[in-house]
Amino acid sequence: NTSLPGHYFVGLLGAPGVGKRTITRQFTTSEYIGHSEHDDDESTQTVSVFLEGEESTLKFIDIRDRKMLFQTEVDAYVVVLSVNDRKTFDYALDMIHSVRRDMKSDKAIIIVANKIDLVQCRNIAEEYNCKFTETSVALNHQIDELLVGILKQIRLKEDKD
Ligand code: GDP
Repeated sequence: NTSLPGHYFVGLLGAPGVGKRTITRQFTTSEYIGHSEHDDDESTQTVSVFLEGEESTLKFIDIRDRKMLFQTEVDAYVVVLSVNDRKTFDYALDMIHSVRRDMKSDKAIIIVANKIDLVQCRNIAEEYNCKFTETSVALNHQIDELLVGILKQIRLKEDKD
């Protein structure tokens, strides 16, 4: 791990097929991006990001298994799972346990729940022109937003008449 100022290593964790490579490839379309390059083997990608007037370089490394996890030093972990596949949730949890419990690391971990487009309700909402929202009543998450959202939808229809 070189410690050049503003240069960071990011370890990508997640079961095969959850979208790790697709996500890093997509980063090149970000409005924050300055420069991006794929290394030859496609398992790493380097991107320069401008944020709050400062440029940093992030090097993404695909961490393929537990052995590699223990051998690779990074500044942060991105743990990707696929919302339509329970096994990828278990894989992600296993990796998070490994980092926090086995490696005793308190490095930043960002959990990414990918492929939300494949959740069927969302597709139905799109097909039938409905508004779609996710809530947890137990956590009181997005419940206020739901109330306001209901009224907004009614007003939108009213405006059309
Ligand atoms: P990796 O093995 O984790 O690097 O996964 P990939 O990036 O190779 O992606 C595996 C497959 O999932 C590819 O066919 C991608 O096009 C597809 N994929 C990635 N992200 C999404 C997503 O958000 N939605 C859908 N529907 N497909 C995705």
